[in-house]
Amino acid sequence: MLAQEIVENVRTGRITPLEVLRAYQARLEEIEPRLRAFIRLNPKAEAEARRVEERLVAGEDLPLAGVPVAIKDNICTRGLETTCASRMLARFVPPYEATVVERLRQAGAVVLGKTNMDEFAMGSSTEYSAYGPTKNPWDPERVPGGTSGGSAAAVAADLAPVALGTDTGGSVRQPAAFCGVYGFKPTYGRISRYGVVATASSLDQVGTLARTVADLALLTDAVSGHDPKDSTSLEVLPRFQAALEAPVRGLRIGLVKEALALGNSPGVLAALARFQEVMEAQGVRFVEVSIPSLRYALAAYYIVNTAEISSNLARYDGSLYGLRVPGEESLDTMMRTREQGFGPEARRRILLGTFVLSSGYYQAYYGKALRARARLKADMDAAFGQVELLLTPTSPTPAFRFGEKTADPLAMYLADVDTVAVNLVGLPAMSLPAGFEGHLPVGLQLIGRALQDEQLFAVARVFEEATGRAFAQGAPLGSVN
Ligand code: GLN
Repeated sequence: MLAQEIVENVRTGRITPLEVLRAYQARLEEIEPRLRAFIRLNPKAEAEARRVEERLVAGEDLPLAGVPVAIKDNICTRGLETTCASRMLARFVPPYEATVVERLRQAGAVVLGKTNMDEFAMGSSTEYSAYGPTKNPWDPERVPGGTSGGSAAAVAADLAPVALGTDTGGSVRQPAAFCGVYGFKPTYGRISRYGVVATASSLDQVGTLARTVADLALLTDAVSGHDPKDSTSLEVLPRFQAALEAPVRGLRIGLVKEALALGNSPGVLAALARFQEVMEAQGVRFVEVSIPSLRYALAAYYIVNTAEISSNLARYDGSLYGLRVPGEESLDTMMRTREQGFGPEARRRILLGTFVLSSGYYQAYYGKALRARARLKADMDAAFGQVELLLTPTSPTPAFRFGEKTADPLAMYLADVDTVAVNLVGLPAMSLPAGFEGHLPVGLQLIGRALQDEQLFAVARVFEEATGRAFAQGAPLGSVN
């Protein structure tokens, strides 16, 4: 079902929130064992659905009435385990609720469960989960992307109409592209990070996933807006649904030369050409733009990202919460706890981050990465002097096979080449499903000016309409086994 349909049917009394939930539970029973998109389901979901029913009877106006939502497992849910798919946080039950979850509940949504991810949101395939990988609903031999792979797979398979993910360097957009759904990362500060487990704080944002632009807007309106509990939160009102009807005629979209030259696969090139053709017919103009410093983005990202990770993950020492191996209070116990708690990718990043921040190398690596970040910002600003939006692939290829990149960390990092730049500069971006390569969906990335997040929705919506809402149904699932 689509979230919009659920809300309409629940509000008019044609179906109850509990009936919606039961329908999804039945679907989960059938499909989830083959996909493994969830780490755990919410045992209190039925009680929550009943509560929504009561509020509706009491006359409350609930914009997400009865909509089941899947939540990535690095977003804190009060009373419901939140593990970041890491042994380090196994059995951690948050005593408080992330602001985004609180807002979902206020809006009448029902938390369906917590979705699989790469451990602590490091990776690009969901293969680095301590709980095992999630399958791509379009092809069981391929990854769903990452790190929000569980959320993207759940939405693509309609195990949930919509989902929340997080995006530090592409973790909402790239899995959205691999799974044929919409994935949105806002301007830094438009969605609260309160209660979201930090990976790299200057890059992290919560993002939204859905199968239609209207559903994406509905969900994004509900979770965004100012939050006094997050000091980086902006005082900007969300207007995502209102923007859906905004005209796109006359808009200029920049085709980013450097991203087009990256060796993109044929399906990706075909999707770009088709997007241009469809949107030109809608009065959008395309111009080539250059962002010379884009070529430094990936290197700068993996320095800033690991530096912040090494600092943020220092808190997992077994003394306050999470895993603690048996032994007396000592440095040795702490070290053994960290050794057993963190998987190989988390360890690699902590080591890399500690290295790039170490006194002899700080300027050579971290200092240089910050300069590249500033240069990228200047180049992006210059590009946005010519156009309102930028277009790139979301990923140079569609979903890759399991095991294809796990042996070579650098190959895995290279999968992020199109997505990391916007996190470094804090801009809004969306991945939209735009075609196929064989049976695999292909995504394109639209990047907006700072705070012009809503414009991405208006453009995506026009493309969606013009191409017959081809992805609203999700994956066919025939071949998933
Ligand atoms: N794949 C990128 C990384 O591994 C992005 C991850 C994310 O956005 N959380 O860092």
